[in-house]
Amino acid sequence: MYILLMGPPGAGKGTQAERLIEKYGIPQISTGDMFRAAVKEQTPLGLEAKKYMDNGQLVPDAVTVGIVKERLAKDDCKKGFILDGFPRTTSQAVSLDAILRDLGIKLDGVINIAVPDEELIKRTTGRQICRSCGATYHVTFKPSKVKNVCDKCGGELYQRDDDKVETVKKRLSVYAAQTKPLIDYYKNSNLYIEIDGKQSMEDVYKDIVASLEKSK
Ligand code: ADP
Ligand code: ADP
Ligand code: ZN
Repeated sequence: MYILLMGPPGAGKGTQAERLIEKYGIPQISTGDMFRAAVKEQTPLGLEAKKYMDNGQLVPDAVTVGIVKERLAKDDCKKGFILDGFPRTTSQAVSLDAILRDLGIKLDGVINIAVPDEELIKRTTGRQICRSCGATYHVTFKPSKVKNVCDKCGGELYQRDDDKVETVKKRLSVYAAQTKPLIDYYKNSNLYIEIDGKQSMEDVYKDIVASLEKSK
């Protein structure tokens, strides 16, 4: 199963990917996670990416496409993958088409999780991530059992630098200008599936799985 998971910042892509990778036994490829790991390691890629991420801007296409191309060529992608947060520009989508063509891969579905802006602000500004295992929580919508401690591994929970309200607003405007046009790019294919992301995490998951099974 080869899936693209799209949607604005905070729509629930990571949350849903976490469950879909278990169901389908395929890797999640999140460009955001890859950039955050590089920032943490302070690699040259991380230092470059951080300049953009801190301002809520997109990392340049050439850099982003490069890391995705390298990642998709790995053996664990042969049986499928979930691309989370890539592509985010039309130029990235065109590059992805070429990468997939070279690898002989055809997408099974392009899932867009749609959520209104007011809700996205609540979701992003309340998001917490585990420093050790990367699990995602929300102070109100998915609280950890013990405050600031990961249920799964006991790690410390933190707020992403770019989840402060000012940066979130900037990211939403970048999304509207640069990523939203992609919806039309994929609507022209028969792969596009829009999911109502305002529902509970469980109902969003059920809708995604139902539409993927139908499109098989
Ligand atoms: P969210 O989960 O809130 O949608 P991500 O974790 O996917 O955010 O991305 C965080 C940041 O990483 C983005 O604001 C951007 O700076 C960078 N980034 C992630 N994916 C891409 C991409 N496909 N193209 C350019 N920049 C990206
Ligand atoms: P994305 O990867 O699209 O940026 P996340 O999966 O990280 O989004 O979700 C953003 C925040 O919203 C997280 O704190 C998550 O726990 C919470 N969240 C995700 N889906 C829902 C939902 N359906 N209802 C309420 N909160 C949600
Ligand atoms: Zn953890």
